[in-house]
Amino acid sequence: MLTEHWPEIVFSATYSTAPYEFEKQDVFLNAAARIETEESPEDVANVLSKIERKLGKSPPFKYGPRTIDLDMLLFNDDIISTDRLTVPHPSMHERRFVLEPLCELIDPDELHPTMESSWKDLLGGVQDQECKKME
Ligand code: ADP
Ligand code: MG
Repeated sequence: MLTEHWPEIVFSATYSTAPYEFEKQDVFLNAAARIETEESPEDVANVLSKIERKLGKSPPFKYGPRTIDLDMLLFNDDIISTDRLTVPHPSMHERRFVLEPLCELIDPDELHPTMESSWKDLLGGVQDQECKKME
């Protein structure tokens, strides 16, 4: 569905992560994608929510198994803080399952837009989290 909307979209590999809030459930699969677009951040967010709705996002309970979660991690180097959107995504820098796929798609030496650390350094700080690249 993402490819239907953005034919030029580029995907990272997929990573599997053990769930940590509620552990007795299947692993999560995570990946990142990069698009170039003239659309506004709100337009992009609307497309993502529409796909989430179509795939039936809602987990049966908090931190439980969910079909899909599409988050906007970055929008160029923009800093966005509205009711609906916080970009850069507030917890991305502390999650290995976000940083690993992200570093496939952007230059790891670049700095996080609001932190004085490079993506590579942030990734170095979360190596204790389990996160396996899938074959
Ligand atoms: P999470 O992704 O934090 O586990 P949800 O996907 O359930 O939680 O949260 C969805 C809500 O988060 C939406 O209402 C959306 O407006 C808001 N939101 C804020 N910033 C972002 C972002 N960068 N990407 C996606 N959703 C965001
Ligand atoms: Mg989300």
